[in-house]
Amino acid sequence: MADFVRRIARASELAQKHPAAAELLTFYQQLARFQQSVSERLASVPEHDLPSLLPFFPGLISLARQQGSPTLAEAAAILEQDSPEDRLALLEGVWQHQVESRHLTGEDAFFAQALLQPFAEFLAEKAAATGSDSSSGLCPFCGSKPQVAVLRPEGDGAKRFLLCSLCSTEWMFRRVLCPNCGEENKDKLPVFSAQEFDYVRIDACDTCRAYIKSIDLSKNGRAVPVVDELATVSLNLWAVEKNYHKLRPNLFGV
Ligand SMILES: [Zn+2]
Ligand SMILES: [Zn+2]
Repeated sequence: MADFVRRIARASELAQKHPAAAELLTFYQQLARFQQSVSERLASVPEHDLPSLLPFFPGLISLARQQGSPTLAEAAAILEQDSPEDRLALLEGVWQHQVESRHLTGEDAFFAQALLQPFAEFLAEKAAATGSDSSSGLCPFCGSKPQVAVLRPEGDGAKRFLLCSLCSTEWMFRRVLCPNCGEENKDKLPVFSAQEFDYVRIDACDTCRAYIKSIDLSKNGRAVPVVDELATVSLNLWAVEKNYHKLRPNLFGV
C-alpha cells in the first residue's frame, strides 16, 4: 500500500521547517489522510471502476469546504450541487487526460485528482507497474505527466527517475533529456539550485521552457519526493520569474 504514513509525517516535519509552505502542507496532511481512507476502502472491495469513487465525494467536499482555500471552498460548494453523472464525467475527463480540452478549472481538477490518485496508485500497485526504463516523458502505466523527478544513488552518481503525478509509478529516465520536448543538448538543459534546498534542483529546458524539479535522494535520504516538491513552492516562483513553466502543476495547481 502506498506509504501515506510517511508522506503525512514528512509533511508535518517540513511544515515546521518552512513557514512559507506551512499552510499548504497542513492541508496536504489532511488530504493524505483522506486519500489513505480511500485507498484502504478500495483494497476491501472487489470492483475497481470510476463509479466506485463516487461515494467519496461528500467527504472530500466537506474537507475542502472546511480546510481548503477560499476558492477551493467555493468550488466545493458548487460541486456539492452537481449530480453523480456530472461527478463521474469530471473523473473520466481527468482519467482520460482531457483536462486541457475540457477546460477544467484548477479547482475541479483538484477534486478529480484527489480521488484519482489513490485509485490510480492502487491499480498500479495491483498491476505491479515497475519503473522500467522508458524514453517517454509520460507514465508507462497511466499516461500522465510526471510530477517530479527523483535522483537515486547508484554507484558513484545518481540515476534519474520520473514520478507519475497520478499513479506514483516511477520510471527511469535519462538525465540529459527533456521529458517535455525530447531536447538532448546539454547546453539547452540548464540545472538550477537554491541554497535553501541543496537537495532540490530545477531541471529546465531552454527549448520548450518547461521545468521539473528533481529531488536528490543521494543528498537527502529523508525526503519524500511528492511532499518535498510541495514544500519547495518558493522555487516555482523563481522559475516563473525566469520565464519557465512547470511541466505538471501539482494537486494544488502550483
Ligand atoms: Zn501513472
Ligand atoms: Zn524541452
